Amino acid sequence: MTDIELGPIRPPSESQSLLIRVTRGCHWNKCFFCGLYKGMKYSVRPTDDILEDIKISVEVYDGINFTSCFLQDADAINIPTEDLLLIGYACFCCRSLTKSVYMMRFGAFFISIL
Ligand code: SF4
Repeated sequence: MTDIELGPIRPPSESQSLLIRVTRGCHWNKCFFCGLYKGMKYSVRPTDDILEDIKISVEVYDGINFTSCFLQDADAINIPTEDLLLIGYACFCCRSLTKSVYMMRFGAFFISIL
């Protein structure tokens, strides 16, 4: 099992959320009060890597019932819509983080889009 990549922040409002890092840094990165991503070049993570992190999350957090997912870091909506939908669906499928449910729904989804 490889590590899940996580960003540097979990907002208090996301204390119960599953964290999924979909970008690195912030493309704006100019707010004077924010040093969170200074020195970090903004990039969108490859969708396959994100889906792999979600898959690993199923193993790591098996049995935990998350009610939401927080997409890290900034500017997650820069991701192409079809990829964002895929990521969102994968997050939805692992909300209960039960392996069988995740694999069944995830597999069925891929079959349905092929
Ligand atoms: S993460 Fe938010 S607050 Fe920080 S530089 Fe980017 S837009 Fe500004």
